[in-house]
Amino acid sequence: MRKLDTKLMHPRDQITMIIDKIYRSGLTTTSGGNISIIDENGDIWVTPSAIDKGTLRASDIVRVCKDGTIDGRHKPSSEFPFHKAIYECRPEIKAVIHAHPPALVSLSIVRQIPNTNIIPQAKNICGDIGYAPYALPGSDDLGDVIADEFKKGFSGVIMENHGTVVGGTDMIDAYQRFETLEFCCRTIIYGSQIGTPKYLTDEQIEEFESQIPRLLPEMETVEHPSDERAIREDIKKIVHRACDQGLMISSYGTVSVRWRGDDFLITPPQVSRWDMQNDDIVQIKDGKREPGKVPSRSTWLHQEIYKRNPSINSIILTQTPYLMAYSVTDEKLDVRTIPESWIFLQDIPNMPFGSHFAGEEAILNTISNDTPAVIINNDSVLVTGDKLLGTFDKLEVAEFSAKSLVMGASLGKLVPINDDQVEDLRKKFLS
Ligand SMILES: [Zn+2]
Repeated sequence: MRKLDTKLMHPRDQITMIIDKIYRSGLTTTSGGNISIIDENGDIWVTPSAIDKGTLRASDIVRVCKDGTIDGRHKPSSEFPFHKAIYECRPEIKAVIHAHPPALVSLSIVRQIPNTNIIPQAKNICGDIGYAPYALPGSDDLGDVIADEFKKGFSGVIMENHGTVVGGTDMIDAYQRFETLEFCCRTIIYGSQIGTPKYLTDEQIEEFESQIPRLLPEMETVEHPSDERAIREDIKKIVHRACDQGLMISSYGTVSVRWRGDDFLITPPQVSRWDMQNDDIVQIKDGKREPGKVPSRSTWLHQEIYKRNPSINSIILTQTPYLMAYSVTDEKLDVRTIPESWIFLQDIPNMPFGSHFAGEEAILNTISNDTPAVIINNDSVLVTGDKLLGTFDKLEVAEFSAKSLVMGASLGKLVPINDDQVEDLRKKFLS
């Protein structure tokens, strides 16, 4: 897949790439949602009105020139007035996304504003969220109530009984904000189905942000033998697969694979995970990083896990919708649901927020062959294993178990397999 290049790619191509991604992720319907980009000269490129979002092509995108003339085969989106209103009041915003993603719509119909303090990067990427009262779709009134919220400094707004609109300094920024906000709402909703979501304080989020990055020294020269390149390809494929399967979002997720000895390859921060390419991945050799590249901020944790656990050869750190319900509540994920879950995962302990910061020992003292995964409160899930595909499978099994538990919560009390049945599993599969 082509990389989303906001500097050199035509706005038409950026818009079609992102609308396709939003549609395939189940975050808009065929008819709903619209996206725009503003050019330096004030022209606005926008999705057309009433054209199938599943098959949109670059030639369908409409340009509304600064003087109001329209260039294109279709009419611009009926919601064009609020896109224009946002650009007029916030000059630094260069891309706008509007859609009706299910979790955000849930909040908009019970008239609640999501508290983004649920996970650190939701607060950092989305900030606080504005709230625009209901107004007729396509009307100038709707443009006004939305612009009022953007004027207050919000870059993400809930539209009452409608959906959401977010702005960004470019299309990558806008999309990350959009996807992260929907993820934040899902986490709040699924957490509420099993318990009471707990939120981080602003101080905790600041503490997370102000961690001093332990940047490894750079190596002087770097080599990329075939086995190293094969690992890059494996990591890229599993990251894309995790995004496609709803097991990773743009703004969060780290994958590493042991290479030789305690050397390994690891994903970088900042790159949109679904857009990651082989050359984004960073080699870590003899405690040094590949020149000119910045590895994940959790590199220290990965390094220590590899040093202390010779049989662990791959690690995935990510956020998945249903496991996060167990990360933000006091509820315990019980893996004694079906035999597969218990065999793959045994127990998944919860670790306190901050236990993955550099220098902390709690996770290192917990991860072992018997405890391959942990849930980090208000942050993520960490899964370890031998081969990368096997580690990914464990992540899938954990997420499926969590999903069944969240869905089952409204039906009745979980009846786990009993101790004798667990003992039988231990004898047959683990001894
Ligand atoms: Zn709409």
